[in-house]
Amino acid sequence: MNSGLPNQGENLISSRTLEVARGKYKYSYTRIPPIAMVDKLPDGENFSTGWFRLLAKQLKITFVNSLITNRGNQGSMEVRDDVRMFILEVLLKGAIPFQISVIGRFLQIFPQLILKGFSKDYKELDDLFFLILKTTGLSIFQDSLNRILKLLFQGRPTGHVQDIQEYKNLFPYMDLPEIASNFQDDEVFAYMRVAGYNPVMIERVNKLGDRFPVTETQYQEVMGSDDSLAAAGEQGRLYLADYGILAGAVNGTFPKEQKYIYAPLALFAVPKGADESTLMRPVAIQCSQNPGDVPIVTPKSDKYAWLFAKTIVQIADVNFHEAVTHLGRTHLFVGPFAIATHRQLLDNHPLSLLLRPHFEGTLAINDAAQSSLIAPGGGVDQLLSSTIDNSRVLAAVGLQSYGFNEAMLAKQLQKRGVDDTKMLPVYPYRDDALLIWDAIHQWVSDYLSIYYQSDQDVQNDTYLQAWAREAGAYDGGRVPDFGEKDGGIQTLGYLIDAITLIIFTASAQHAAVNFPQKDIMSYAPAVPTAGYQPISLLKGEVKKQDYLNLLPPLEQAQGQLNLGYLLGSIYYNQLSYYPEEHFQDSSVKAALQGFQKNLQEIEKIITERNKKRPKYEYLLPTKIPQSINI
Ligand code: MN
Repeated sequence: MNSGLPNQGENLISSRTLEVARGKYKYSYTRIPPIAMVDKLPDGENFSTGWFRLLAKQLKITFVNSLITNRGNQGSMEVRDDVRMFILEVLLKGAIPFQISVIGRFLQIFPQLILKGFSKDYKELDDLFFLILKTTGLSIFQDSLNRILKLLFQGRPTGHVQDIQEYKNLFPYMDLPEIASNFQDDEVFAYMRVAGYNPVMIERVNKLGDRFPVTETQYQEVMGSDDSLAAAGEQGRLYLADYGILAGAVNGTFPKEQKYIYAPLALFAVPKGADESTLMRPVAIQCSQNPGDVPIVTPKSDKYAWLFAKTIVQIADVNFHEAVTHLGRTHLFVGPFAIATHRQLLDNHPLSLLLRPHFEGTLAINDAAQSSLIAPGGGVDQLLSSTIDNSRVLAAVGLQSYGFNEAMLAKQLQKRGVDDTKMLPVYPYRDDALLIWDAIHQWVSDYLSIYYQSDQDVQNDTYLQAWAREAGAYDGGRVPDFGEKDGGIQTLGYLIDAITLIIFTASAQHAAVNFPQKDIMSYAPAVPTAGYQPISLLKGEVKKQDYLNLLPPLEQAQGQLNLGYLLGSIYYNQLSYYPEEHFQDSSVKAALQGFQKNLQEIEKIITERNKKRPKYEYLLPTKIPQSINI
């Protein structure tokens, strides 16, 4: 065994050090029951100054954007003087409970604010927001910020729209996302399944069965009379998005209005004779799991019925995305490993050295999420379809049904039948994610091979074995299906795969599902986080206003915009850039250079791919942070 691993002689000091760590990092199963989270956030786990600076910058943008919108400047970048004056009122009234230093700083920059307005490079305002955050911490979300927000949101636009244009007016200062101009296109709707915010939903099916009785006629109307549903099924060209997990979820309420959650089925097909650039197309949608509840709708149905049905799918998709794909299967998936690593591995243990940078900020953001974002009355409660209890249950179920060994990327793709590039040629998430997976796998393999030369070495590392046991234990991390058949970690091969999955999830997978929150999900009509009409409207003629009433009222759309923008724009750290001198071993440095070079190559490959397909940039290595911290 390589001398880098701790040996038995160090046991006394080691066990004391670990005892201290175990006192700091305690498990709790009652935050989001029954998921393992840290009981109380240890000091060293707080966000860094650099992270707060990034947050402050984005907070400023959402603040100014809301200010201009809500003070009657809709649709115009012109900032009237009375709006500028309002910032004084808002910040002072809201900021008084803060510290004198904040008010002093504000008074200093206020004259410049009047002169310069809100130009985008107005750095002084970033500093002010940073100061506010630094003096109040993230509790600002609950206390002082609420006072500011109350003032800020007085006079905001409310209610359902008469025209889709009204949503665009919510972006007077922020850039309007591209999706605003094309989200109603069928091509974009289908592309979102393979390159959107939740690119993990579709499964290949051979036939649909009684549950979703799409007829040959319906199929041929959409895909052409020279194709057939039966043939498409046999040839592996049918893909289903099934939101059955949402059936029976409880509808939430937004103060005055009923919100709805839906459990639709959506069918997509790859056209006959597809080449490598042929996109999948939407064929039919049934807005309920029970056939006959409402008619099946296709692109050949009335315009607003089809738009209504596509929107129902988007609503189901984003509810699944936030609770299951994003919160459950990235944030909460990684959290237990961060805790077990601190409790069972000394800081200089090679595995701990490798993993810790990939956990930076994770326990802090998960802690903030459970105490504010997904708390009753928090952003998720307000904006998502279901009740908050139901959303939390969904996150827990989403994680518990995601067995560790099945979560390996290749297995996930295989399981959904989407791994064959001939059958499903355009799947940017799959193709880019596989490149990143392989690069991480190579790095992990190179790194671990320096310390473990054989399966025997792995079996003999008692720290590693204790770490693995705890991660899967009921009174530990509760990671489902973790470890090899006979328990623990028996082989170097498994260890490499397992560590690859942890790092991949903390970096690439999270990036793929987190950052679309800004570019795609901040525009409410494209991805409404809740629906506001029942599907029974599909039994009659769906009118334009029915469709518009299904979409979030403007105050909800603004909430969604602010939250999505904030969560989707903090890029803190970058994959493969470990702190300087983090690794002392020269052979590690050489392996790391190889990893960085591979990622640069992948950057070029994805950039080239994006010239030949509708853009998909979430897995560009330069846009993947090291860890989940937002
Ligand atoms: Mn996130």
